[in-house]
Amino acid sequence: MDMQKIRNFCIIAHIDHGKSTLADRLLQFTNTVTEREMQDQLLDNMDLERERGITIKSHAIQMKYTYQEEEYTLNLIDTPGHVDFSYEVSRSIAACEGALLIVDASQGVEAQTISNLYLAMEHDLEIIPVLNKIDLPGAEPEVVADEVIDLIGCDREDIILASGKEGTGIEDILNAVVEKIPAPKGNADEPLQAMIFDSVYNPFRGVEVLFRVFNGTINKGDKIKFVNTGREYDADEIGVLGIVQHPQNTISAGNVGYLISGIKVAKEVKVGDTITHIKRPCANAIKGFENVKPMVFAGIYPVDTTEFEELRASMEKLQLNDASLVWEPETSAALGFGFRCGFLGMLHMEIIQERLEREFGMTVITTVPSVQFKALMNDDTFKLINAPSDMPDPNLFKHIEEPYVHASIITKSDYVGPVIQLCMEKRGQIKNQVYLTADRVELIFDMPLAEIVFDFFDKLKTISRGYASLDYDLRDNKASKMVRLDVMLNGEVVDALSAVVHRDKAYEWGKRLCEKLKELVPRQMFEIAIQAAIGTKIIARETVKAMRKNVLAKCYGGDISRKRKLLDKQKKGKKRMRQVGNVEVPQEAFMAVLKLD
Ligand code: GDP
Ligand code: MG
Repeated sequence: MDMQKIRNFCIIAHIDHGKSTLADRLLQFTNTVTEREMQDQLLDNMDLERERGITIKSHAIQMKYTYQEEEYTLNLIDTPGHVDFSYEVSRSIAACEGALLIVDASQGVEAQTISNLYLAMEHDLEIIPVLNKIDLPGAEPEVVADEVIDLIGCDREDIILASGKEGTGIEDILNAVVEKIPAPKGNADEPLQAMIFDSVYNPFRGVEVLFRVFNGTINKGDKIKFVNTGREYDADEIGVLGIVQHPQNTISAGNVGYLISGIKVAKEVKVGDTITHIKRPCANAIKGFENVKPMVFAGIYPVDTTEFEELRASMEKLQLNDASLVWEPETSAALGFGFRCGFLGMLHMEIIQERLEREFGMTVITTVPSVQFKALMNDDTFKLINAPSDMPDPNLFKHIEEPYVHASIITKSDYVGPVIQLCMEKRGQIKNQVYLTADRVELIFDMPLAEIVFDFFDKLKTISRGYASLDYDLRDNKASKMVRLDVMLNGEVVDALSAVVHRDKAYEWGKRLCEKLKELVPRQMFEIAIQAAIGTKIIARETVKAMRKNVLAKCYGGDISRKRKLLDKQKKGKKRMRQVGNVEVPQEAFMAVLKLD
């Protein structure tokens, strides 16, 4: 294929600014999809994604577009829109020469827009600015255009006005893609060098690998190798993606395609890896490859302890199609057998939890999520802390280090005060404050990741009445005074309720948690002491008083069926209870830590 007739591009947009709607319009306009095939939000095809309105996995789609009587091949590469998936975004961007920058004309530029835009600019992508939703009565194209001009230094005439809803500006966008985005460079005769930018799990056909060829040509049946994993495969099927797959015999430099080679496990396919030929390999792997690392760790336990093996089987299946999920078996005195899992972030964790429940019918308890801390031990080695139980004895280490992020928050000037206050409460340090317009401010903070992963974003939304957007990326580790906080019920530590927290916050955390548990732990035949402790030091205490009467007492002499009903009811209640020492703890108690405010 003539490389001069190929354009590879992605769409950069903040969530809800209209990326999916516009993408659908482009497919419609180019007749890639017929009216009949047209569903809302074609690119978001997983149920979960559709409900959340987030494109979780990036896909690619090829369109044919005739411009000045020449046919062009346009490859649209979809990028995930959430910070948990920023490495995937960076690889999708690396597969393109240009990007549509879509900004909602009624909302203006948001944090996610800026971070992804910077990524695109780092990769020298040609940026085509588009103001979307100009049909909205609240749209302020003039004001938002000023923001965009400030941001990318374009001319006002370069900005395309569009409405995904009404279909305006679609042809202008397609023309700009052809006119402004450079054709790919590369040489089809050189050794094969193709980058994997995504993979899609298909239970019947194995993993479908999406790639962009930079140099060389891949042919059906070729013997190929993934450079970073060192694994070798046969290219059983290659092709390009429309609404359905279109198998091809060759795909050469500049183009985008899919590969099927019987790979059964998602983990074998690493985004960012390079595909080359076994016989005539390329000299270098494509730059920018990283092994994605989990950022958030939590225990997952079956509510019903007899379902452990079933949970294991479900986790194994999930892992087949989710390369970023990691787990290993773990035991908890309170919860029994379960798994310590690593996630890319909180959204990823919620997705896994939901998929376990929906796709596998499991009911699970998730323990307090935690980031990965590192202890600098007395012998100068580092010990990784993925769970409170990994925390070494304070006499054995010099200090604990925790991951810090660089966070960007964009809000209205009215909310600058409350936002700064919230960030300081979360141990953040303000680094910069930039006025994007008279009314909108970007605030930059250094913050501990541990403070962001919980409910930070919800709090931010609340204090700013929804007018705040957040983006962050991981920077470095800093020494922090972290301690392990334990919760005891009648003197017995409930391991599933332990957490690693900052010393200055431990007292507050312990107090709130004890109060919350007091509400949740039902009265029993004896008094229950709820205590929070750091080491042997008790820092908070609450008491659940003993029950005054036996529940059955009121049934004495009463009819037997009523008694049986009561007992049955108790038994049902018990199913969701866990025995800790002599205390019965309801399942919600283990989640209480997540809801401390
Ligand atoms: P994404 O999150 O960026 O993919 O955004 P979507 O395409 O899912 O759009 C988010 C919401 O905005 C949906 O409710 C769309 O119907 C709506 N929307 C998208 N484009 C337009 C537009 O041009 N005008 C109006 N009024 N609404 C739009
Ligand atoms: Mg979308």
